[in-house]
Amino acid sequence: VRRIKVKNPIVEMDGDEMTRIIWHLIREKLIYPYLDVDLKYFDLSIENRDKTDDQVTVDSAKATLKYGVAVKCATITPDESRVEEFHLKKMWPSPNGTIRNILDGTVFREPIIIPKIPRLVRHWEKPIIIGRHAFGDQYKATDVVIPEEEGKLKLIFQPKDTNKPAIATDVFEFDGDGGVALAMYNTRKSIKGFARASFEMALKRKMPLFFTTKNTVLKRYDGKFKDIFQEMYESDYKVQFDEIGILYEHRLIDDMVAQMLKSTGGFIIAMKNYDGDVQSDIVAQGFGSLGLMTSMLVAPDGKTFESEAAHGTVTRHYRQYQHGQETSTNSIASIFAWTKGIIQRGKLDGTPDVVKFGKLLEEVTIDTVEIDDIMTKDLALMLHRGEKSDYVTTEDFINSVKRRLDISMKQMFT
Ligand code: NAD
Repeated sequence: VRRIKVKNPIVEMDGDEMTRIIWHLIREKLIYPYLDVDLKYFDLSIENRDKTDDQVTVDSAKATLKYGVAVKCATITPDESRVEEFHLKKMWPSPNGTIRNILDGTVFREPIIIPKIPRLVRHWEKPIIIGRHAFGDQYKATDVVIPEEEGKLKLIFQPKDTNKPAIATDVFEFDGDGGVALAMYNTRKSIKGFARASFEMALKRKMPLFFTTKNTVLKRYDGKFKDIFQEMYESDYKVQFDEIGILYEHRLIDDMVAQMLKSTGGFIIAMKNYDGDVQSDIVAQGFGSLGLMTSMLVAPDGKTFESEAAHGTVTRHYRQYQHGQETSTNSIASIFAWTKGIIQRGKLDGTPDVVKFGKLLEEVTIDTVEIDDIMTKDLALMLHRGEKSDYVTTEDFINSVKRRLDISMKQMFT
């Protein structure tokens, strides 16, 4: 079988520990033999981030803006113990945070559904994608403790043009017993980027989109979010949504989460920063396994795109690997990080064979578990008793996927 030519480059962000081992196996066994692709490689391992004073992370994000598609391996976010372990110059920030800020992106989390793997919420037969607005609100808030003293809390907006009067709003009259207060904000620009990324994701996945707020309480704050979504929907998206038969609706957050729990899945929920933080973990648990959760970062143009597994570097397994012991780490979400990037590249380039390859790799990965009953320990524990005969090693799983891929490639591309 001839290798399929990928027209434009894909940015590759390498990472750390067990996922780095998996990442290389996937690239060498499942990607390179089939795709003729120019990978713009950035080594985001903790050692190289330290060596380059984290410049490599910034460069990789800028390359993503330039080329439009990136695939990322999980990376260590250093804490005190990591600083010691790797003798780091400083506690470098989370690469995901750095990349998110440069792309100004919205994070979408999507589970991979394998029918036979039981889910905590059994009737979730189709994915529920949670989009989280990754800017402002509680995460950029200023919170204070109010002293035990009588007094008035005010919110003041001071225009830069000093000829204009300040706008002061009374918030609360404290009675001297003390308390707490908080001021948070968001910007029109960021909300619009969030809305666009959400509408584009719905179009791309041909799935209905719900946007949740608590606008009955936060009439102006959440009301503004709701209005921006509604205006953009009517001016830029309604026609396209109608054409492919999907809907957009605003929902109260409490109604939506109740409905989500009762549903069979198959929709996208765009959520404000804090709501998305909480709900994406609830959904991840409901679908069952971290090894089956993917994460996509979408820039406000709705096209620039970075995909990765939602889990971390699986340090616990890496320690076994370092001691020469066998591991059984689930590579499915990492494989899907690659396929989602490949499919997006193919769509942007207008190269159907590349899209076809990405979808085929997803299919054979799922079939390896669903039909061949070959899986790693985390899944075997959910399905069987997790005895040694029920699961395979990290490498054997990838080899099994490759065997299926080889057969399907011959059928499909020759
Ligand atoms: P983790 O997701 O790596 O692992 C937590 C536990 O979940 C593991 O012990 C394992 O039991 C299970 N697990 C996760 N992925 C699995 C897989 N593919 N197969 C089998 N089991 C799996 O989280 P952690 O241990 O808290 O963090 C380890 C490192 O990863 C930390 O240094 C952290 O900074 C980093 N991290 C990175 C990202 C990212 O790059 N997006 C996300 C989270 C954590």
